[in-house]
Amino acid sequence: MSTVTVAAIVARATALFEDLRFSAAREWKSAVLGRKVVGYMPIYVPREIIHAAGMLPLGIVGGGDQLEVIHGDAYYQSYICRIPRSTIELGVSGRLDFVDGMLFPSICDVIRNLSGMWKLMFPHVYSRYFDVPQNYSDEVGGNYYVNELAELRHDLGNLRGQPITDAELTASILVYNDNRRLVRELYALRAEQPWQVPAAEAYLLLRAGLVLPVEQHSEMLRDYLRAARAEVRPRRDNCRVVVTGTFCEQPPLNLIKSLELAGCYVVDDDLLLVTRWLTGDVTPSGDPLRDLALAFLHHSESTAAKYEPNESEKGQHLVRAVKRSGAEGVIFAAPSFCDPALLDRPILQHVLKAAGVPYIAFKYAENSGQMQPIREQAGTFADSIKLWSGQ
Ligand code: SF4
Repeated sequence: MSTVTVAAIVARATALFEDLRFSAAREWKSAVLGRKVVGYMPIYVPREIIHAAGMLPLGIVGGGDQLEVIHGDAYYQSYICRIPRSTIELGVSGRLDFVDGMLFPSICDVIRNLSGMWKLMFPHVYSRYFDVPQNYSDEVGGNYYVNELAELRHDLGNLRGQPITDAELTASILVYNDNRRLVRELYALRAEQPWQVPAAEAYLLLRAGLVLPVEQHSEMLRDYLRAARAEVRPRRDNCRVVVTGTFCEQPPLNLIKSLELAGCYVVDDDLLLVTRWLTGDVTPSGDPLRDLALAFLHHSESTAAKYEPNESEKGQHLVRAVKRSGAEGVIFAAPSFCDPALLDRPILQHVLKAAGVPYIAFKYAENSGQMQPIREQAGTFADSIKLWSGQ
């Protein structure tokens, strides 16, 4: 049995998080001649298809607070979020020069435009705007999505010079089922005992899954779950919150740490949703593309960037997350200028109000440096929850 400690796992995940040259992915690629890396942006792509092609799916979520954006600003107006600018910076500075393909999932106009820019700026790289269904009937949205998946499968087969077989896809689905199960276990443990799984550690573990081969990431999660359960950690008198709105541009790590220091245990969130977008196992039926399509239609996360056809269902995912995780309040944290998160916020707040769930809201940028106002706001929120729940 592995005896690796929590500290050692977190140190490795932190090193991967800080490495904006993506050395782990570069090393994976150069270890075997002919290997390829396909990058993807938030919020969801079917990583199984990339994996089935023998390629490494590489999650790109901007440059964070360590990257100085020098060229990226020139490509965009100032009144949009920061992730496209820092992603351009990663590209033009050569940090992604080993990446053979880029997928830009359908999340908002900014990412759609970025996909077009990528095609112009890096014409030698396979780039695809990856669309998802807005209709959830099997015969309409399902068939449409199977065709989208088939095109991606065909393109990646071309990129490697050999078609991707059903057997390869099914094997990859099983590998990702295992990984998603472990991520769900991590989230369940944190909801149950948040003092044993600090939010920053959970986040770093998920970030590691964006750059490591999935098999290595699953091993890391297993090691962490075992080590975290064995560790004795102090339990604070914190309130329990769900953090929402963080599904694309990422908050700085210090912001996540600040919430807990201010008295809020994060018991659920929508960070890095790709790691748990499909909410249950995908059961292989012999038709892997249809299996992935049906899982997307019927067993996937809800978020502002995903169409919800049923008005009365809008926002209920948040109420369910509060109940499931035993949260006492919700923190709306959204990137500045993020249309999907900020346009949905009033609707979601209305739903929470009706359900009697307290909330606060603030904005951030991936390079926000000043945490004091957020700490004060979160601290006051935690105190007020304690007062209310004591009545
Ligand atoms: S942060 Fe929001 S607006 Fe910006 S690219 Fe992501 S989803 Fe779009």
